[in-house]
Amino acid sequence: MGNGSSIDTSRAVHLDINGKIEKIIFSRHSSSRDIHELICQAAAVNKYSTITLKDVDGAHVTASPSMPINTPSTPYTVVVKNPSSRNGQLNVKDESEVFQNVLSQVAEQFNRAFKVEEMKSDITTRLSSLERRLEICGDEGLKVVEIEKCKRDISDIKDQIWNAQKKFIDFNRMSDSEKKTPTNKKSPPNFEKYTLSQETVEYLKQPTFDIWHWEPNEMLSLLEHMYHELDLVTEFNINPITLKRWLLCVQENYRNNPFHNFRHCFCVTQMMYGMIHLCKLWEKVSREDLGILLTAAVCHDLDHPGYNNTYQINARTELAIRYNDISPLENHHCAVAFQILSNPECNIFFNVDKDTFKRIRSGMTMLILATDMARHAEIMENFKEKLNTNFDYQNKEHLDTLKMVLIKCCDISNEVRPMEVSEPWVDCLLEEYFNQSDREKMEGLPVAPFMDRDKVTKPTAQIGFIKFVLIPMFETVGKLFQQIEDTMVEQLRSALRRYEEMKSENEKQQKKG
Ligand code: 5GP
Ligand code: MN
Repeated sequence: MGNGSSIDTSRAVHLDINGKIEKIIFSRHSSSRDIHELICQAAAVNKYSTITLKDVDGAHVTASPSMPINTPSTPYTVVVKNPSSRNGQLNVKDESEVFQNVLSQVAEQFNRAFKVEEMKSDITTRLSSLERRLEICGDEGLKVVEIEKCKRDISDIKDQIWNAQKKFIDFNRMSDSEKKTPTNKKSPPNFEKYTLSQETVEYLKQPTFDIWHWEPNEMLSLLEHMYHELDLVTEFNINPITLKRWLLCVQENYRNNPFHNFRHCFCVTQMMYGMIHLCKLWEKVSREDLGILLTAAVCHDLDHPGYNNTYQINARTELAIRYNDISPLENHHCAVAFQILSNPECNIFFNVDKDTFKRIRSGMTMLILATDMARHAEIMENFKEKLNTNFDYQNKEHLDTLKMVLIKCCDISNEVRPMEVSEPWVDCLLEEYFNQSDREKMEGLPVAPFMDRDKVTKPTAQIGFIKFVLIPMFETVGKLFQQIEDTMVEQLRSALRRYEEMKSENEKQQKKG
């Protein structure tokens, strides 16, 4: 990063798909998942297929935005392991649909790539003209007016690059009007009811649940199961088809970010479900409150753009302007949640009375807004104060702070999971952080050291976070529920030890190197 040539951030890679050479173009800011989907599109297979790339020497290549570029004569061979469709096998109708889909997406992609090329040549011409003007300035001594004009031009060019790049990144995202309402409005939702084994439904209640094992449709079924199992379908008199439609719509409104994606939504909700079971929360709070907790978890990061509040505020984005720099993202997640629920076909609370809906709305809003980490100290102080004055489940203020702390715990609970499950999330988080800090460097905005690829590593990212945020918070909740101290806090302590070992191992390696 940081040299002048990094202006061009689009990258091209050549693929050998069954003997045919295909070219894919992506942005350096795309996620690995976007690139995986692009390769699947080029190979005309479902995006859930397992893909392997091999270079001309037969070495495996990771499909990521930083993968080495190649030429048409040294393409990566694409091997499709298990071409799959959502229901297992491709039938003829699916195949033709996939083909149509691929055709239109590839056409769209080339269109955009062409525009980026056109822009690049325009920018090159403008930059050389700027260089000439600066040379003249040097020859003739300082001409402040001319230099200022050059600076403005450079800033214009930067704006233009970012606008073009944003379009390039967003090309396969749905437009706002396509989102928020389900695409399959009239037809019944098409995710099949997976038959969940007794083993799976019991495992689902545990914080050890392997959240990587499930494809998106299966996660929908698992979420659906939680609403049935906790009796929320009865409590709110939810139409089971509306529940399916709502879940599909929620899924469509999570973006394909490295971290803030639908799987993160699933994780946070599953941890809430796990904590409800671990603490037998139904003995202490109403079913309505359980519904508010679970639904707030499902909705808490809706339409997350992949750049945090600090970026929104510093870059003066539309969201920051709309919400006056006050928790812009959390306000947006919540607004999208209620936009979805404003559609009767997706409103799981359609059958509740007005007063109940009001309580649900204010409860969910309070919880989603509480997930802004900028409010962490304030919320924890508030909760500790309630604990010190004899915690009372009948007192609304006491219960509200507990609910806020519970959603906060679930939101940042990856390290509570077993190491094999938690560790890949750190890579996802760092990928999203580096995306943001690279962009901040490009745009001349402040960069937080914890997001800077030159300053942060996996263990350093986690040690402080576990020591100063996670352990103190879970220990505090452990004062109300001993089970949390015994299981979750213990797991956090062991994760901390592991990252400390990893850090000293890294330091040893560095000294050697
Ligand atoms: P969010 O609501 O954005 O999902 O979660 C709040 C924030 O907590 C995240 O954006 C991220 O900055 C931070 N966070 C969550 N989990 C972790 C983690 O495991 N490690 C670190 N270092 N930060 C985390
Ligand atoms: Mn979250």
